[in-house]
Amino acid sequence: MAERGKKRCSFCGRTEDQVALLMTGMTGYICNDCVEQAHAILREESLLSKSDFEMTELPKPKEIKAFLDEYVIGQDEAKCALAVSVYNHYKRLMQRDACDDVEIEKSNIIMVGSTGTGKTLLARTIARLLKVPFTIVDATVLTEAGYVGEDIESILTRLLQVADYKVEEAERGIVFIDEIDKIARKSDNPSITRDVSGEGVQQGLLKLLEGSIVNVPPQGGRKHPDQKMIPVNTKHILFICGGAFDGIEKKIAQRLNTHVVGYNSVQNKQHIDKGDMMRYIAPQDLRSFGLIPEIVGRLPILTSLRPLDRDTLRNILTEPKNSLVKQYIRLMEMDGVKLTFEPDALDYIVDTAVEYKLGARGLRSIVETIMMEKMFEVPSSGAKSCKISKEYAKKQIEKSTSIAGA
Ligand code: ADP
Repeated sequence: MAERGKKRCSFCGRTEDQVALLMTGMTGYICNDCVEQAHAILREESLLSKSDFEMTELPKPKEIKAFLDEYVIGQDEAKCALAVSVYNHYKRLMQRDACDDVEIEKSNIIMVGSTGTGKTLLARTIARLLKVPFTIVDATVLTEAGYVGEDIESILTRLLQVADYKVEEAERGIVFIDEIDKIARKSDNPSITRDVSGEGVQQGLLKLLEGSIVNVPPQGGRKHPDQKMIPVNTKHILFICGGAFDGIEKKIAQRLNTHVVGYNSVQNKQHIDKGDMMRYIAPQDLRSFGLIPEIVGRLPILTSLRPLDRDTLRNILTEPKNSLVKQYIRLMEMDGVKLTFEPDALDYIVDTAVEYKLGARGLRSIVETIMMEKMFEVPSSGAKSCKISKEYAKKQIEKSTSIAGA
């Protein structure tokens, strides 16, 4: 193997000093050029199998929305925007494969809505029907390179992992970035001191959104300093962002009071629904909140989620395919017990969620508290049925201290 003890690439035969890098395997070596060639061959191979979905078998926007309807109550505007975005994403990918001369650009999307209105649920639900790699990342952990926290590139690490490290696959994936509002600039004037978790992160994110070749650490983080980076092109990756943007209503109100012309304008101020300012959101509000204009520009589809009223909360309890009530009924069914909730017990659960201002997020902990004792007793009691009345629910909640502190 070795001429004068020199290591050689087992593929092209060149020696260590003739190549930039020689990697060691179990029984041989490979140089950087041969790795690149092998990579090109792999790309070509996956090019051949790339069009693995046909136009006819793609779910149409209406079908995507119908699927979302099974799990998510209301939020029609956001559902339609998501459905169209995902459908267009598929079309763009097919076009990329077909080398058309009208290049369709991607339209990343941003969903704004108070916490617990279903943003993450929408993202998770759409993931179930996607035919491309999909991952959810949390913007709160992101920091500028070199600071404690995750580098921006780690977003793509996750996507690569989901795609089984197939770069071609990851390059057509979809990333949901949750809590994007947490990387907003803290004050309106660009800071003098460094803003570790704000503008710097946004600048980094911009690179991903715009489409560029990013070197991704395959294992993520900085725990593996010697890992080889994998170049990933983000041009065709679709980004869906979500955030609560707490307090943005004030910025919207200010804008509506000062100008009434332009994008998403409300001509007649009389008709402004003060209880739901979020529905009037426009890109400039995101800027006032602290997103840099370039980022706002790269998120051309802006949609907002409605606050959950009492009726919606009531529906959330019972309607979705895997609603909380259905989940408990199934749990008891496994013990041969028929579980029923009396309607006023359900109303009471909703009232409690509203009272504690927990929204949909609180429904689970409330039902959990009410059901705990029954779940403990019933399996060994030999009972064939179990009914939850309002009185019983109330007693359980009053006994418990855990929810009030939630
Ligand atoms: P967000 O991401 O907007 O803060 P989530 O999607 O995490 O909120 O919602 C929290 C929980 O509330 C979900 O697990 C889900 O059970 C419930 N939920 C919220 N909104 C809806 C909705 N529109 N339809 C059904 N369930 C919902």
